[in-house]
Amino acid sequence: MAIDADKALPPELRGKGADVSESDLKDLEKMQDKNVVQLSRFHLRLRRSGPTQVVRYSRDAGAAPLWPSVTHAPEHTARTVPPCPRCGAPRTFEFQILPQIINHLKVDSELHSAADFGSAAVYTCSKSCAPPDPGEDGCVVGLDGDLEVSGAYAEEVVLVHPPLNA
Ligand SMILES: [Zn+2]
Repeated sequence: MAIDADKALPPELRGKGADVSESDLKDLEKMQDKNVVQLSRFHLRLRRSGPTQVVRYSRDAGAAPLWPSVTHAPEHTARTVPPCPRCGAPRTFEFQILPQIINHLKVDSELHSAADFGSAAVYTCSKSCAPPDPGEDGCVVGLDGDLEVSGAYAEEVVLVHPPLNA
């Protein structure tokens, strides 16, 4: 098999010249297949629930977001999803926002600042503990010493999968 132009190569292999090894190719093949499988799974699931679905919600134990790819799925670790700062309970998956929501928001998709993502998953306190009392003036001081607007809001964690065309 002769590869005559660099642009015929997947981006991961470009510029590697003759240094592309058999195992590089095998890795890439595996990776691409995984992403193709994952993207198909994502679209099938979305098609089943209809084009108007913009959020997937589940509080079941072990519920997890469905990401559009394997390679760009955000890492879920103790660092990216730390425990609840109020009560120390683990934060668990609550819901994910699907990219279709962008079509429902009246934003100019050509704008540089326009929202775009593959999906975003929100992790909340598994014990749903009460946010701190806002006090009389409606303000509380957060753990980091910053003044927060209102105790009625609890800080949660969002993991974002980048847009698929990024
Ligand atoms: Zn909590």
